[in-house]
Amino acid sequence: MKLVTYRHDGKERTGVLTADETAVRPLPYADMNTLIETAPFAELLSAAHAAEGASVPLSQVSLCAPIPRPRQDVICLGINYKAHADESTRYDASAFGGERPVPIYFSKRVSEAVAPEGFIESHPGLVQRLDYEAELAVIIGRTARNVKAADVQDHLFGYTVLNDISARLLQTTHKQWYFGKGLDGFTPMGPCIVTADEVAFPPALAISSRVNGELRQNSTTDLLITGIADIVEELSSGMTLLPGTIIATGTPAGVGMGFDPPKFLSPGDVVECTIEGIGTLRNTVR
Ligand code: MG
Repeated sequence: MKLVTYRHDGKERTGVLTADETAVRPLPYADMNTLIETAPFAELLSAAHAAEGASVPLSQVSLCAPIPRPRQDVICLGINYKAHADESTRYDASAFGGERPVPIYFSKRVSEAVAPEGFIESHPGLVQRLDYEAELAVIIGRTARNVKAADVQDHLFGYTVLNDISARLLQTTHKQWYFGKGLDGFTPMGPCIVTADEVAFPPALAISSRVNGELRQNSTTDLLITGIADIVEELSSGMTLLPGTIIATGTPAGVGMGFDPPKFLSPGDVVECTIEGIGTLRNTVR
């Protein structure tokens, strides 16, 4: 199933895309967090089936981020693809170089995730060196506490596309990445959540990004240095991961700071992040 949050008739709703992905069938859940917490897959399927005939053409709705208001900060992996580690070190060795024997975790404040087709905020006067990072985000479906890697798959709800927008100068100046990655308008997400039952585990999906149509990132999600099973096992060994928790798994090579000279974003630029089987997240910088 491809699940979406959308606005129709002035109201925010949850729904499931039809097989041809031209329409959405409404689901009886107040919001995506409630759906994830309360709906077993069988119930979701029957609700989707019961809604047949009541579908609304996508052209008549506006998609929101699938989880517009995450209940907690998004958990992120830093430097989790080898080629991105190399490009980051070339850009700024003091900030990104050195040995990394264990994963880098940080979090991203998301008061409101940016909708598909929504705007990436450039924050003139505050932000320089605005950058994009296409990432596979995994969403927890069942409370995860002390979960072994072999059992992680059973705790996943689904996957979406997330653009980890980054203000490189704030990120490196402040040492901690929280401020430079947690500004308003810095977390586009969507266009949908693909439920975990539809993706072979671990996911090996093509991931790419384009800026104004120019291919920038082009990789596959099986190249994660620390995979989803190990991430969830390690985090859940001391941190309860609640349903609806979003984990952004890191970005492959080809971000703006990876080019020489760098190719940072400017107002008017259109960024498209695509993951095979999920879709394309398209946003414009303003
Ligand atoms: Mg990132």
